[in-house]
Amino acid sequence: MSHEIRTPMNAVIGMNTLLLDTELNAEQREYAEVVRNSSDALLVIINDILDFSKIEADKLVLEDQPFDLRECMEESLDLVAPAAANKELNLAYVMAEDVPEAIYGDATRLRQILANLLTNAVKFTAQGEIVASVGIEKGDQVVSSDPAANNDLLLDFSVADTGIGIAPEDAERLFESFSQVDASTTRRYGGTGLGLAISRKLTELMGGTIWVESAGIPGQGTTFHVTIRTRPAPAIRRSYLDGAQPELAGRHVLIVDDNQTNRQIIRRQVESWRMRAHETALPSEALARIEAGESFDLAILDVQMPEMDGLALAEALRRQQAAETLPLVLLTSLGRQASDAERLTRAQVSAFLTKPIKPSQLYNELLDIFGDQPHD
Ligand code: ATP
Ligand code: MG
Repeated sequence: MSHEIRTPMNAVIGMNTLLLDTELNAEQREYAEVVRNSSDALLVIINDILDFSKIEADKLVLEDQPFDLRECMEESLDLVAPAAANKELNLAYVMAEDVPEAIYGDATRLRQILANLLTNAVKFTAQGEIVASVGIEKGDQVVSSDPAANNDLLLDFSVADTGIGIAPEDAERLFESFSQVDASTTRRYGGTGLGLAISRKLTELMGGTIWVESAGIPGQGTTFHVTIRTRPAPAIRRSYLDGAQPELAGRHVLIVDDNQTNRQIIRRQVESWRMRAHETALPSEALARIEAGESFDLAILDVQMPEMDGLALAEALRRQQAAETLPLVLLTSLGRQASDAERLTRAQVSAFLTKPIKPSQLYNELLDIFGDQPHD
């Protein structure tokens, strides 16, 4: 059936795209754009419904292939990064140190679950942050009747937001199909209420469970958990992610970010490379410490800070003799680079990283900065 539905849908979208490329007057363009937006939305719903019925009919067979777990998480986060940036939400992710880099399973479907949870988190959060994490569920006893599967690793993913929350009495119902907290949800936030139903089915197919924790108090947010049963796969060793790095070890990093989660994530990451982390939430404190004679090899600055933004701090640092040549890495949300280009040049920023902070990117930038410098 899916072919019969998707074919005409693709024709509608395709032809309308061609139409939009022709010369249209303002009124015609407006109508054609409404067609585009509505057909895009309809396609998402159709895909969800087809997906859901396929799972319901037990027709879905999951892959069991080795894949890079970090990449899978980063790709899910990349999907929602623009929407999070639009709402000025802080987006971050944490992978516990003992989680294997590569596991066996179905990467596409895991990404789908994470993307569903992240999309919801962004949708139902007006301010604050969204943190995705993964760790190993300890003390877990395997009850597998299929020893060949040998999936004795239980991973626990979570997506925590600071949004509107979910009342405990609504929590279970939301995993049913077409279920939303109340009728006003569709009007205000859109959606069909299939995301969590699909996520639950997929999670169960992966031998895990999905549940939600929330006090139901707006602003205190919601945390969704998903566990999946899997086993480690041999990873292509990525030395930068584990242990001391000769080019970086011992170097002093000043981290300036008003967001505590970000500071913690950066600290943990650079300390794993044996760098020495110093942190503050306040740009003024950063300036004062340098003025007082503390010396650093690098500063990582968040762009969006209430007291003084990262670019202003960068410029202020450049005016201090001790920090004239201090390498600066700026953290930003998507879409800011271009508009800040001029100020960037003035502040001689070494690198610009977009959130969520990815260890591989940070590592590459730091090597760029320190790789060719003699190190004592
Ligand atoms: P769809 O995912 O099909 O586009 P949806 O997002 O409304 O639509 P689900 O993802 O299944 O559907 O979520 C069901 C309902 O659960 C949502 O409509 C919302 O009421 C509630 N919900 C889900 N995630 C959150 C969250 N992070 N914070 C608050 N409410 C949530
Ligand atoms: Mg959803």
